[in-house]
Amino acid sequence: MKYISTRNNKKAIDFESVSLKGLANDGGLYLPKDWSIENFKFSKKEIDFQNIAYYVIKNFVGDILSKADLKEIIRKSYYNFSSKKVTPLKKLEENHWLLELYHGPTLAFKDIALQLLGNLFNFFLEKNSNQINIIGATSGDTGSAALEAVKNNKNINIFILHPLNRVSDFQRRQMTTVKSSNVFNIGLEGTFDDCQYIVKKLFNDKDTKEKKFASINSINWTRIMAQITYYVYAVKQLSLFENKKISFSVPTGNFGDAYAGYLAKSKLNTSIEKIIVATNENDILDRFFKSGKYYKEHVKSTNSPSMDIQVASNFERLLYDILNEDSDKVLEIMTNFELNNKLFIKKGAYKKILENFKSFSIDQTRTLEVIRDVYKKYNIILDPHTAVGYAASLDYLEYNNDHTVVSLATAHPAKFSRAVSQAIGKNPLLPSKYKNIFELEERYEVLENNYKLVKDFIIKNTLS
Ligand SMILES: *Cc1c(COP(=O)(O)O)cnc(C)c1O
Repeated sequence: MKYISTRNNKKAIDFESVSLKGLANDGGLYLPKDWSIENFKFSKKEIDFQNIAYYVIKNFVGDILSKADLKEIIRKSYYNFSSKKVTPLKKLEENHWLLELYHGPTLAFKDIALQLLGNLFNFFLEKNSNQINIIGATSGDTGSAALEAVKNNKNINIFILHPLNRVSDFQRRQMTTVKSSNVFNIGLEGTFDDCQYIVKKLFNDKDTKEKKFASINSINWTRIMAQITYYVYAVKQLSLFENKKISFSVPTGNFGDAYAGYLAKSKLNTSIEKIIVATNENDILDRFFKSGKYYKEHVKSTNSPSMDIQVASNFERLLYDILNEDSDKVLEIMTNFELNNKLFIKKGAYKKILENFKSFSIDQTRTLEVIRDVYKKYNIILDPHTAVGYAASLDYLEYNNDHTVVSLATAHPAKFSRAVSQAIGKNPLLPSKYKNIFELEERYEVLENNYKLVKDFIIKNTLS
């Protein structure tokens, strides 16, 4: 399979380059050139996570990996999850399920894609005896999941920028207590959008062209691809015993996860009714889905910090699709957006959006209420991000009570104990692996929100 950039679809490259590079030189994002997906049917026995992951992913890697290599990479990526099912479904009500995505090593759904990406990096770097430098921005969970996936790898140095004092203590410690000489943590005096802006700029900087930078943010296509799996897996399991319209509620920040759900629906022929986009008070996407107008405002700190994002990178991928794959148009619109911080789409394209998505914005008070209610009703502790998605599910079901909704549980509550204890008056239990995390020594660099300072620090420490 060949890949193109959303800002120039004339030039095509292969999966290996897409996975190692992340962002295209023209500033666009990579997408498959065409969507030739093989039809697949599973018997009841064949419905397991690894099997479905193989059938989804093989469409996108083409013949770069042999069947045996791809199967082994998938096996290695998911064998250490604390649930044998990798992403188990839990029934709350006849028409409401929880899809638990936090059973990976760092307790958030980011592990599902990053474990795979880490193993793909290993495979490609070994094969070509190559080295890379990973540069990533995190709103909290991507950082630790990426570090976990590549720590101690001698072919990789990894630099993670997090917004200083805007991630939870537990999240920061998950990153800064990783003891490995290939790991560089940067606490940036700014917001997640500032971190993301610097990372994108580094990729397009002439001075870093020779540096072999790779991206682990969801601008990297491989992450989106890996996340399609659990949508297909959940639908296959649910359709074994019911025939209702299934929608997914997705707590959304950078729009990677919700976009993967959209691909499962629109390109992999999975019978999904709607992708419900659930945002916190940073509601740029909710406003867009309600009006067709996308415009940037100031980012606000909330109790679901992994979604404190204004500019949702993967939005550009959706734009490319609904503008009928016209990359000249995307280039024009995005260039304009970078200047004016707003973009509007036309009626026809907006209609397509409404066919696929529904959106809700949930405020912080409601988030805490939901954590309290769900604990009382089911004795289940939701993390605040999951609670945002759960609240959106309730709002959706109010008008669609003959549908089934799956709420994505994107993180373990222990990652956000402050919000949880505010809601239910006690802390969630720490998984045993993290029992002593508050005693370990931390290592990180605090840097001003200044492009040149960050660039100099990174260049000084890169593998060449
Ligand atoms: C990253 C993250 C999200 C948002 O996912 P996107 O793909 O960026 O939209 C939601 N919840 C948690 C816990 C996260 O870590």
